[in-house]
Amino acid sequence: MDCIFCKIIKGEIPSNKIYEDEDVLAFLDINPCNKGHTLVITKEHYETFNDIPKDKLEKLTSTTQDIAKAIVETTSCHGFNIAMNNKKAAGQLVPHVHFHIIPRFDNDNVVPPWKHGKYEEREAEEYCKSIKKRL
Ligand code: 5GP
Ligand code: ZN
Repeated sequence: MDCIFCKIIKGEIPSNKIYEDEDVLAFLDINPCNKGHTLVITKEHYETFNDIPKDKLEKLTSTTQDIAKAIVETTSCHGFNIAMNNKKAAGQLVPHVHFHIIPRFDNDNVVPPWKHGKYEEREAEEYCKSIKKRL
């Protein structure tokens, strides 16, 4: 499969690896939003968050937390984003699931604030009911 992150896992493309075990790999983003910007990926190829089997998910999230703590200490950042883009509409460019850990500094304007809207009358209750029904 022609997946750039699978190639990084196999060592076919070089990367600055931060952590690796049998399930996950963390490496520096090649075009960092801020220095220290890191990607954490599953070694198995899954496209989105919703495709990861539950037993693999915990490892990915807990490793992401360990690495985020180390990035905060290393960069002395004022905050950090944990972000994941799922599918093109959400900004996913590499279709191999990955968490971004982005160290943030006051007024760095790296990730613009999201645009927030409003619900029409009773619309929120309908969304709430419909999502709950599917759990
Ligand atoms: P996405 O938009 O899919 O959430 O993010 C993909 C990320 O992968 C981008 O931030 C991009 O800079 C990074 N990236 C793309 N190709 C490479 C690569 O070959 N090596 C590394 N280290 N990062 C990459
Ligand atoms: Zn892949």
